[in-house]
Amino acid sequence: MKQYDLVIGGEAVATTEHFDILDPATGEVVGACPVAGKAELDRAVAAARAAFASWSRTPDAERVAAVQRMADAIHAHAGELAELLTREQGKPLNGMGSRFELGGAEAWARHTASLSLPVEIIQDDESGRVELHRKPLGVVGSITPWNFPLLIAVWHIVPAIRTGNTVVIKPSPYTPLSTLRMVEILNEVLPAGVLNVVAGRDDLGQMMTEHEGIQKIVFTGSIGTGKRVMQSAAGTLKRVTLELGGNDAGIVLPDADPKAIAEGLFWGAMINNGQTCAALKRLYVPDSLYEEVCSALVDYAAHVPMGNGLDEANVLGPLQNRMQYDKVVALVEDAKANGARVLTGGAAAEGPGLFYPITILADVSDGMRIVDEEQFGPVIPVIRYTDVEDAIARANASENGLGGSAWSSDPAKAKAVAGRLECGTAWVNSHGAIKPNAPFGGVKSSGIGVEFGRQGLEEYTSIQVVHEGGH
Ligand code: NAD
Repeated sequence: MKQYDLVIGGEAVATTEHFDILDPATGEVVGACPVAGKAELDRAVAAARAAFASWSRTPDAERVAAVQRMADAIHAHAGELAELLTREQGKPLNGMGSRFELGGAEAWARHTASLSLPVEIIQDDESGRVELHRKPLGVVGSITPWNFPLLIAVWHIVPAIRTGNTVVIKPSPYTPLSTLRMVEILNEVLPAGVLNVVAGRDDLGQMMTEHEGIQKIVFTGSIGTGKRVMQSAAGTLKRVTLELGGNDAGIVLPDADPKAIAEGLFWGAMINNGQTCAALKRLYVPDSLYEEVCSALVDYAAHVPMGNGLDEANVLGPLQNRMQYDKVVALVEDAKANGARVLTGGAAAEGPGLFYPITILADVSDGMRIVDEEQFGPVIPVIRYTDVEDAIARANASENGLGGSAWSSDPAKAKAVAGRLECGTAWVNSHGAIKPNAPFGGVKSSGIGVEFGRQGLEEYTSIQVVHEGGH
């Protein structure tokens, strides 16, 4: 069994303590995660700070070339990383699983290499010249979750490095190995200290948010932890980008064609087994289409194979960890006890591995835990409505505001409804698609700030205004 190391200042750093990472499909040990403490974190921040002196002043074209080399390195090692990701995270190699995640990681890195933040001329006339420059912040601390460990790591690391910052990343204790390995690979194409990785338990995240040597935290995770991050980052006035949880609603309009939308609805909800921030987690369907939409979803679900992700036949795998598995069980049991009708699934599977079957629940309503809370699992609650205004109001009656969607045979009608949802991204006849050129982020409790595109890049910089001449 392999023991993984931290990477600090371009070198592998072994720790004395480790803990085992288990394959959620089998319970077997995948590898041992190093446990970093304050001393290792201090060392990583110092290495990042030392590298910042030259990296922040490296010509832009060289930084672009470095990011392109990062994309090339991800491409070259995609097979190895995908297999490790499947073994520690559970998502299948196939479908929208590990290979898909690695493809996304490379695509995001390449797109980010193509972005730039040139000097803006605010004014240039006889009364003077005023320029707006974008400067890197310093050391960026990245804290990632367990659902898309490598893609989200790339979302944090690449724009930070592209804009001249240096990074200390901490992966989730549930899925640290693929990130440790990816950072090792990326260090082959970056100057020492530009990208460092520490791993350990949750307390290491708090140490990062409090650390005096870190200027910004980019955090992706749950709303509860996001609030703690913001609180403890306040002590040193760190910049924060928070990408937090969602409880996205989808609203089917009365003129939709249930058979035509079933596949889009299904994958909008089930991507990564529902363990996706911007997945469809509450589906509102009009009385007139209710049973038809339910049965179209059940028919589609019947042909989706779930099992060990290393088997090419499967497109859904296990839930990632026991805590999440128990949560899904609790929410479904609560719904059943409160009158939900189980159309498919709904009972925990036997045997090793954290497999929970695809579950579609009818006769559920707002006020039930499965609707009000983020289930983060393979469960679609289908909620009945009569009046579309009421459906919009119920969709918006949530602290979450990540994504939302509307579905109709008339895209203009769907767009009008989608635009009224209180969320950072609204989709028309689809749910969950994101692109590296379009800013992504949550409103309300789903986050602060955005990632991707020019606006996402700007979050890794501060503004310096330069005045020349004038009176
Ligand atoms: P989590 O909040 O439990 O953990 C996220 C990370 O924070 C982990 O690395 C963890 O070790 C670390 N952490 C824990 N306590 C900390 C503390 N006090 N200070 C600093 N860091 C700490 O989230 P999770 O369960 O890993 O991820 C699932 C959640 O993430 C879901 O709510 C999901 O919707 C959300 N998510 C959001 C997005 C987005 O872009 N908005 C993307 C993916 C996941």
